[in-house]
Amino acid sequence: MKNIILVAPPAAGKGTLSKQLEKLGYISLSTGDMLREKAKTDLVLDEMMKKGTLISDDIVFKILEDKLISLNDKNYILDGFPRTVNQAIMYDKLLERLNKDIGVVIYLDVDKETLLKRTITRRVCPTCKRSYSTTTKALKPKVDDVCDFCNTSLIQRLDDTEETFEIRYDEYMNKTYPLINYYENKSILYKIDTTDSNETYKKVLKIIQ
Ligand code: AMP
Repeated sequence: MKNIILVAPPAAGKGTLSKQLEKLGYISLSTGDMLREKAKTDLVLDEMMKKGTLISDDIVFKILEDKLISLNDKNYILDGFPRTVNQAIMYDKLLERLNKDIGVVIYLDVDKETLLKRTITRRVCPTCKRSYSTTTKALKPKVDDVCDFCNTSLIQRLDDTEETFEIRYDEYMNKTYPLINYYENKSILYKIDTTDSNETYKKVLKIIQ
């Protein structure tokens, strides 16, 4: 198996895909989840995250490096990292130091209108981090507002509002989208259209097998 970097706009289905890949033995690493965990005891970080802007590289790399070291040789998926070309360059150096392989980069492509709709109808489980939708049939929980897997009450993320979506989408287009070119030049980029989210997993399996 190959390590995977997921590059995608907000609400493209990174989290859902990561959870599906965990069944193959992958460890899913979401820098957003790690930062939200840290923000519970760090008010400054909490405020920054509510705004939807990117967090400094120092903070992100510290959390990520510790995590990668703890994984030893297990395969992992990066969900939400790198977010900028600078992070990608720093990550290349980190991998060299840790003697790990970059693997493949999967770019999930979806139109903006679909993403906004997914964002405002998204509900997440604060315990196991699974994502649900209040409207998309395949992603609805069996019982309204309750996680199918751990029975925890679902919540709406504070940054899943239309206003914050616009900021996060702009951040993505300005800072993250240039990664496509960066990884295309390394010949490790695979693009998948995820407008039909049911097909995404099958397409990814073809790439990594
Ligand atoms: P996500 O759960 O991936 O949508 O991330 C939620 C928020 O966490 C983002 O809006 C950023 O504020 C922050 N964040 C997550 N990953 C990164 C990263 N690699 N670099 C900087 N900020 C990040």
